[in-house]
Amino acid sequence: MKDQAKKPLGLERVKKWLYAKGLEERSAGCVLCGSCYGHGPANPYEDVPGPKEKCPPYEFYRFQRHTPKSRWLMAQRVFHGLDPITPELKEVVYTCTNCLMCQELCGVRNDGYGPWDITVAMREELTLKDGPLEAHRPLFEGLREHDNPWAQPKTQRGHWADGLGLKKLGDATAATLLFAGCSADRPDGKAGAVALAKLMKSSGVQFAVIGEAEKCCGLHAYDLGFREEYDRLQEENLAMIKRAAVREVVVACGSCQRAWREHAKVAGSGVEVFHGAQYVAELVQSGRLKFTQTIRKKATYHDSCHLGRGCGVYEEPRTILRAIPGVELVEMARNRRWSWCCGGGGGVPEAYPELAKWNADDRMREAKETGADIMLTSSALCQRSFAGCGAGALPIQDLLEFASQAV
Ligand code: SF4
Ligand code: SF4
Repeated sequence: MKDQAKKPLGLERVKKWLYAKGLEERSAGCVLCGSCYGHGPANPYEDVPGPKEKCPPYEFYRFQRHTPKSRWLMAQRVFHGLDPITPELKEVVYTCTNCLMCQELCGVRNDGYGPWDITVAMREELTLKDGPLEAHRPLFEGLREHDNPWAQPKTQRGHWADGLGLKKLGDATAATLLFAGCSADRPDGKAGAVALAKLMKSSGVQFAVIGEAEKCCGLHAYDLGFREEYDRLQEENLAMIKRAAVREVVVACGSCQRAWREHAKVAGSGVEVFHGAQYVAELVQSGRLKFTQTIRKKATYHDSCHLGRGCGVYEEPRTILRAIPGVELVEMARNRRWSWCCGGGGGVPEAYPELAKWNADDRMREAKETGADIMLTSSALCQRSFAGCGAGALPIQDLLEFASQAV
């Protein structure tokens, strides 16, 4: 890719935050306050007390080295050449579930460079020096060869829309694009993408889908430290929407929303990105979509880390649920900003499945404590995590799939 060589990657990219005293104005590193993982008082910079449990890998392993603070300190030492890259160091760096809780809590940085950004930069550094973690190699190769982390050949992509009669971008330009995401052709993501398309269609929205040519949004590439793949996917996705004159991207998965929000910033003004829950909430509020069927169920909603803390989308899913006759919304103790991670992000299920399973089970326990009949999510990665909870777990369903039953 042109100009790639000039672009700082890895720890070089976050260099100014690796010097505790700061080389430039407003740069500062971790001050070791412990707010991102400790069980003591909440972050003193915050006006809303944070949760008792903060960083999932720390709660699971219970060693200080698995805290966001330690990851930041390790990054400093690796950057200055004081520590070698060892398997133990890699384990600490790659057990981060990318839940973004430390980013929400850390009072030192609020300019987009917090503890989680440092962890991602460390992953970039490790990829540059050592290549991907062995457990992540299939994701890496999948992205490189098939443009999706699940290594699905293009002939297997786009089938989620079979029989729905949707317009494809290749046939025409479209102001509104439904971006289905790489999970749409897998069990975890198909129902959500289909429901979003049906709800948009029944509300009279003119839109198109990409079909088999759809490429990954790049989220996995970014979060796992495959920065060059992320930059390529961002460039190609932006070129695609420019060619097709797309002005509005509606995504079916909470994780895609986090990546597309960044792409929209690069695209500049004129391109808006919405998660399906935001889009459908607007259709409901404007009266273009009406829920006429009653669903007598007690439902709890799991805020995905990427859609919630990553994009600040908390109220729209609840707006949809409150508009469905018969639905009683019951909240888990840890909700919205303080929602507990499902363990499904950051490549943790592939590399540390015992941590991912513990995380999902703990969240499922909390969901059951509400007395709900069902748990709803807006992310395919969360669906995948909860699908592994096994016997005794609540049924889990995509929010929009659930809502589409009320139309
Ligand atoms: S993003 Fe989450 S798992 Fe990763 S270091 Fe921060 S709090 Fe821990
Ligand atoms: S990463 Fe932020 S919240 Fe955590 S110990 Fe350092 S300064 Fe405190």
